[in-house]
This record gives sequence, structure tokens and C-alpha cells, in this order.
Amino acid sequence: MTPDLLDEGAQRLERSRAAQAARSGNTESGGRAAGFSRLVTSPEVDITHGRILYLEDVSVSFDGFKAINKLSLDIAPGELRCIIGPNGAGKTTMMDIITGKTRPDAGQVFFGSTIDLLRYRESEIAQLGIGRKFQKPTVFEQLTVFENLELALKTDKGVQASMFFRLDSAQSDRLAALLHTIHLAESVGRLAGTLSHGQKQWLEIGMLLMQDPKLLLLDEPVAGMTDEETERTAELFLSLKGQHSLMVVEHDMSFIRTISEIVTVLCDGAVLAQGTLDQVQADERVIEVYLGR
Ligand code: ADP
Ligand code: MG
Repeated sequence: MTPDLLDEGAQRLERSRAAQAARSGNTESGGRAAGFSRLVTSPEVDITHGRILYLEDVSVSFDGFKAINKLSLDIAPGELRCIIGPNGAGKTTMMDIITGKTRPDAGQVFFGSTIDLLRYRESEIAQLGIGRKFQKPTVFEQLTVFENLELALKTDKGVQASMFFRLDSAQSDRLAALLHTIHLAESVGRLAGTLSHGQKQWLEIGMLLMQDPKLLLLDEPVAGMTDEETERTAELFLSLKGQHSLMVVEHDMSFIRTISEIVTVLCDGAVLAQGTLDQVQADERVIEVYLGR
């Protein structure tokens, strides 16, 4: 091995260690660790019935309090579904159930029409093709944008394998295209820690997209973004729908107005109303919960 290669290897090892340390320091359970799992042989998602996600009569209680109460909902392949609802409505808990972080007490949760998600663990659900974006960005700040995206393809292959990990040409092409999609092509060599809040959010979405999830769950993705970042995020989501199915929880109504087709309003752990944003905003029951009872 030439000194150059050795040097590069040593640098890779150091970055890999730093990433591993960052990973273990990440206390938010699930998402990140699950997201890095390797895509193993997974059953095909059967969308012949026109549904990528299907929840029926799902309930979960915490100390007797029904956070989710007979929730039924389905999402079509390629759909961009918006979920709104007051604080405590159960939006995050619903995502916890879909991704296997929380087990419901009752009900059915299917990915396509044949994959019973309740039979899988959180890490396996990520491998099946369900990606989740938590509210807070969790990128590796001491790594570059490129390295963060590259890392999203690496798995628990161990330090040795990670050191010599190389993108194949298809992966390189995908990464290059993705950089444009997430508006970070010009920042590819920057350390993630120096990015703005909005750029970090895009980077994390990019890391999820590197794994080509069929379904993406995004919890309050534009919270804390500037108006311009919010607009660009709307463009990003609109460009993703069709290829991916998306479930987006947000409070920002102008953002919802830009991206939404069907909006589902959750309240007290169940669907209160569903329709276009205009339809649900005109619904008396929705007005009542938003104005406070
Ligand atoms: P939303 O995301 O719509 O604001 P959440 O899903 O976070 O709502 O919470 C729904 C309700 O369930 C809230 O009342 C919350 O306090 C409660 N809850 C959520 N997770 C837990 C938990 N692990 N233990 C106890 N209560 C919880
Ligand atoms: Mg929430």
C-alpha cells in the first residue's frame, strides 16, 4: 500500500470512529440506528390494492390514557399525505407505532396489503423500506455533507469494512443526483456542523433517501426553518411524491397548503376529519378543536 493510501485509510478509520461515537451518543431512540440497517432480503410490498400503508382500529394506552383510540387510516402509493392536529393528538405516537417503536394494544398495521408491521421490530421495519425523520436534525456534524450521505449506505459492517467502503458507480450517481434534490450540491465538502438548521434537515432527509425508502414519515420537518427554507422544502417534498409515499406531520398551514392534497386531522388519537385543506378548515369540529373547547 502506498503511504497515500495508508494515510487515506487512517483518515477513514478516524472518521468512522467519530461517526460511531456520534451514533452511540445519539440518545433519540430508534430512527437513526434503525435507519442505518442494511437492506436485507425483505418481502415485496404488495400495492395491488392501492394502499402502501393501512391502519385499522389501532389503540394504545399509556397508564390508562388512550393516546391512540381506534385509529383507522390508509395511504395510497406515491401519495403525499399531510397530518395536522392539536398538540397531544397522537401524531408522533402514530409514527412510533408505524415504525415499531411503540406496540399498539389493539388493531392492525399493514405495509402494503401483506406485510403485517406488528410482526417486525423497529430495525426490521426500517429495512423493509419505511424511513423516519424525527423533528430534530441528527446529522454527524464533524463529517462533511458527502460523508454523511455516504455513511447512510454503510451498515454495521464494522470498522474494518467501513474503512474500505467505496460507493459503486450506481451509488455515486444516485448520491450526485440526490445532492441536487436536497439543494446541497454546492455544499458537498462542507462539514455538516457548519450548515444552517434547514440545510441540516435536508441533509438528514437525503440520508434517508440514500436508502430509497418506499414510505417516508416526517415529523414537523419545517419547524425552525426560515421562510425560504420552508419554500424549498415544499418543492423538495413535491418532487419526492410519486416515487415515494410521504406522511408529513406539520403545524405550518401555509406549508401544508402548498404541498397537500388530502389532509387528515387527528384529535384524541383518532381521525377527526379528512379532505382538502379548505374542506377540513371549514369543518365545525376542526374549528372547535383548534379554537379550544
Ligand atoms: P402529538 O405528536 O400529536 O403532539 P403525541 O403522540 O406526542 O401527540 O402524544 C399523544 C398523547 O400521548 C399525549 O397526551 C402524550 O402526553 C401521550 N404520550 C405519548 N407518548 C407517551 C409515553 N411514552 N408515555 C406516556 N404518555 C405518552
Ligand atoms: Mg408530536
